[in-house]
Amino acid sequence: MTQPTLILNGEARDTGSLGSLPLIDPASETEICLLPKAGCAEAQEAARLAVEGFAEWSAVSPFERGKILRAAAELMREQADEAAADMTREQGKPLAQARGEWMGSADCIDWFAEEGRRTYGRLIPSRTSDMTWSVHQRPVGPVAAFTPWNFPAWTPVQKLAPALAAGCSVVFKPAEETPITGWRIVRALLDAGLPPKAISLLWGDPAEISDTLVKAPEIRKISLTGSTRVGRLLAGAAGHELKKVTMELGGHAPVIIARDADLSKVVPLAAEWKFRNAGQVCVSPTRFLVEAPLYDDFVSGMAEAAEKITVGNGSDPATTMGPLASSAQFDKIQDLIGDAIDKGARVATGGARIGNQGWFFAPTILADMTTEMRAMNEEPFGPLALVTKVNDLDAALAEANRLPVGLAAYAFTGDSETRHRIVSDIKSGMLGVNHFAMAMPETPFGGVLDSGLGSEGGIEGIQAYLTPFTVTAKEH
Ligand code: NAD
Repeated sequence: MTQPTLILNGEARDTGSLGSLPLIDPASETEICLLPKAGCAEAQEAARLAVEGFAEWSAVSPFERGKILRAAAELMREQADEAAADMTREQGKPLAQARGEWMGSADCIDWFAEEGRRTYGRLIPSRTSDMTWSVHQRPVGPVAAFTPWNFPAWTPVQKLAPALAAGCSVVFKPAEETPITGWRIVRALLDAGLPPKAISLLWGDPAEISDTLVKAPEIRKISLTGSTRVGRLLAGAAGHELKKVTMELGGHAPVIIARDADLSKVVPLAAEWKFRNAGQVCVSPTRFLVEAPLYDDFVSGMAEAAEKITVGNGSDPATTMGPLASSAQFDKIQDLIGDAIDKGARVATGGARIGNQGWFFAPTILADMTTEMRAMNEEPFGPLALVTKVNDLDAALAEANRLPVGLAAYAFTGDSETRHRIVSDIKSGMLGVNHFAMAMPETPFGGVLDSGLGSEGGIEGIQAYLTPFTVTAKEH
């Protein structure tokens, strides 16, 4: 079993200033290990180290930085089997999904290793012939990065890789629920040759650590992937300190199923992507808005597909859906289902816990959903498909755009006019048309409204860690 430690100045720390906290296996509810619990003291130390790390790392050329990042990606690939087993153990997702995430994360590091070499400046024609105007791209400085537990490798690399490729140092706090995966990524970076002060790893008391880091004068940028609630806290505090932020926050993705859609294609895809990672995905398809002629067939088709999902311990190769990641998730899902049933929802399948050990929950299809139900307003972040009948495209778009969040949205149609209307009117940061794949290193990923500020991935992903430096020079 991998025993993760805090890492400061490249050194393993197995004790924390706030004592320890348990790491729990969601499939068995048993303790995996005790973790050192960090707080203000370690956060202050990490902020100080990050200043020295920044001076050292930002002086390394982008070409050399890219080599170290690519070497880290290679080290990650070499340990894919062990890393996937650890991720499944701490987070619950099936092994194949854990492995896929780990390998995809190595690819993301490669992408940004290369992008670092393309952080071009520009020459601007000046107004007089004796002057040159140039714009350089400089790293923003030491970064504090906070990530959630649902994608314990992908969400960190979306921050660490562009920040490091840009020349920033990073203080990284993964979720307390999934420290091992974060620890493995940091170890790979250090083993590949990253200067020890350029990255610190800590976890413990999230409020104390984030408060310390956001206020620390050494830290110049805050990057969070997490809930809208914590996003407001951190962005508000960072705003007060006049620090840059990237906020990748919650969603509640609508899926418009137009009357011309081919359900024989839509249903298998929708069931696969809805229950991936037990629905604990920020872009998980959640509010299915189905035009009336297809409604009954969609509900029965989804129920049938959901019942074919094999729920179990993620380490069993037969498992296609693991447990929920924590008891808090479990309680929330049960509450949302209870509230929906009380207000008239129909359980087409699922709706209850499976077994009495481990946080296993049945893939659930709730039909006849209405906007008074809490699940239609609060991000469920679990294996719940909420199905609503809509009479036409106008009604579907009105419901899709009703919430104050706008991360991902999806639409299924073969009709070009319908597609055009959805592309033009949907309020979200991303739209999947006739498919559900969303997160690629090459494309920007981010939301509008309460889903966040800024994007990760693509060329936008590295721009978030750079700041323009303008030089106007005149002949002497
Ligand atoms: P969370 O907001 O509770 O925690 C996210 C991170 O912030 C954790 O590391 C947590 O410890 C830390 N944190 C910092 N200050 C904190 C404070 N004062 N209080 C509590 N935590 C603090 O989110 P979560 O439950 O870990 O993750 C689920 C949420 O993340 C969902 O809303 C999901 O939609 C969102 N998410 C968004 C994206 C995206 O790219 N937009 C991707 C994955 C998950």
